[in-house]
Amino acid sequence: MGGRSLKPHYDAIVIGCGMAGLAAGIRMAMFDRTVLVVESHNAPGGLNSFYALEGRKYDVGLHAVTNYVPPGAKGTPLIKLLRQLRLRREDLDLCPQRGSRVAFPGVDLHFDNGFASLGESVASAFPEEIDGFRALRAHVAACDPFDASAPVLSAREVMGRFLRSPLLTDMLLCPVLYYGSARENDIDFDQFVILWRSLFEEGFARPHEGVRVIIRALLKRFREVGGERKMKCGVRRLHSEGARVTAVELEDGTTVTADAVLSTAGALETEALCAAPDPAARSPAPESGRRLSFVETITVLDAPPADLGAEETIIFFNDSERFHYERPEALVDPRSGVICFPNNYDYGDRSLDEGFFRVTALADYDRWAALGSDAYRAEKEAWYPRLQESALRFVPGLGMDTVRAHTRAIDMFTPCTVKRFTRHIEGAVYGSPRKHRDGTTRFDNLFLAGTDQGFLGITGAMLSGISMANRHVLSRG
Ligand SMILES: Cc1cc2nc3c(=O)[nH]c(=O)nc-3n(C[C@H](O)[C@H](O)[C@H](O)COP(=O)(O)OP(=O)(O)OC[C@H]3O[C@@H](n4cnc5c(N)ncnc54)[C@H](O)[C@@H]3O)c2cc1C
Repeated sequence: MGGRSLKPHYDAIVIGCGMAGLAAGIRMAMFDRTVLVVESHNAPGGLNSFYALEGRKYDVGLHAVTNYVPPGAKGTPLIKLLRQLRLRREDLDLCPQRGSRVAFPGVDLHFDNGFASLGESVASAFPEEIDGFRALRAHVAACDPFDASAPVLSAREVMGRFLRSPLLTDMLLCPVLYYGSARENDIDFDQFVILWRSLFEEGFARPHEGVRVIIRALLKRFREVGGERKMKCGVRRLHSEGARVTAVELEDGTTVTADAVLSTAGALETEALCAAPDPAARSPAPESGRRLSFVETITVLDAPPADLGAEETIIFFNDSERFHYERPEALVDPRSGVICFPNNYDYGDRSLDEGFFRVTALADYDRWAALGSDAYRAEKEAWYPRLQESALRFVPGLGMDTVRAHTRAIDMFTPCTVKRFTRHIEGAVYGSPRKHRDGTTRFDNLFLAGTDQGFLGITGAMLSGISMANRHVLSRG
């Protein structure tokens, strides 16, 4: 694709070949728009890509595709997404989770796909809170998180109207924040509603072969509808005249024009591409506040984790009295994190060739970025076992010695890895704390989609691409 010559003009150019960019590209090309997706990296997928190391394929990020609903369900985000992209359910090969847990000192909440187990778990661990919990659920069900005119509320503040226990509030927030909050220790209530539904009311799934199944399905669809891609050649500059972007300059020097440009690179990242800087964007403002990023350890085992004593799919853990979802004052904060055992999905009669054990924790980009290459390597080596050890305290059946004895290969990424492969400022996985819900920018024909528009995660990013394409390109005729 990279070698094919480009048209001088497109109906739409999309910056970024991640989930949002591909979904937007498909949607526009389906309606006969000429579309070019431009990507700086050589691989598609963005924050959720995959890579090969010593002959093994690893997913970059995938723990879980959220919003899983069983066949036959109607009207949910996953079903809408499939319909809008004209994909078949089988194309994504979504296999449901076996069961997950939020583990805090002395208390566990269990949940799976469907709400009943979480309700039972809350009733048993927090009997005095169950009425408030049910009322919170009813409130979440009644909210319209897509009402862009609604005021931005703090999820903690809204939860406080229903729950008295700070512990239960922290336990419910732990998965929600880890799977989608760009804000420290809280999340906008509209995003909380989206994530609550996608994690607790719907659920987790994974394709048997991981994220590449989803990327392959999107690429195939994009080709079928006539979309064009230019890989390994980022956008260098967006040229403008007045309130319009007039040309897109690529890193190989080519210049192309388009009626509309959709950027999934991030709000400030996109602003930085503009040749005529916005004087208002110079002030550091809330957007450049403390962005959140993570480290992740990946351990390849010679046996399925269930055979070694770990049967759950995902465990959100925290060892402290309160849950601190904030940029740590150290390279890594091992007090809390997310454990994922990708083997523990229901793949029917298929299994994964090897065992996988992944641990994610909050990390500080600045501290990692300040290290020289030797110190960077040394810190990775030091943090890898520390993080595993911290996580394994919450997996009673699986000890560090067992993991060590069964380890075949390891890998670890840091916020610097995220920055290098996606160009997100400070390796921020969920982008800027301030979202741009309507996707508009100071230019009439430049729009944001994906992470900084405000829909997060794999499903959310695709839905963002679709809705921004519908609203800003397709509805304009
Ligand atoms: C470690 C990790 C684990 C995760 N786990 C999960 C999970 O289990 N489930 C889940 O739902 N979500 C998960 N996520 C989040 C999910 O991956 C993201 O929310 C989603 O993929 C964002 O997609 P996007 O298209 O909005 O942005 P991105 O994926 O960031 O895509 C933006 C693209 O733009 C490209 N780009 C940037 N600048 C330029 C430029 N100048 N020119 C051209 N291209 C450019 C980037 O290279 C990138 O490919 C995880 C993320 C990480 C990092």
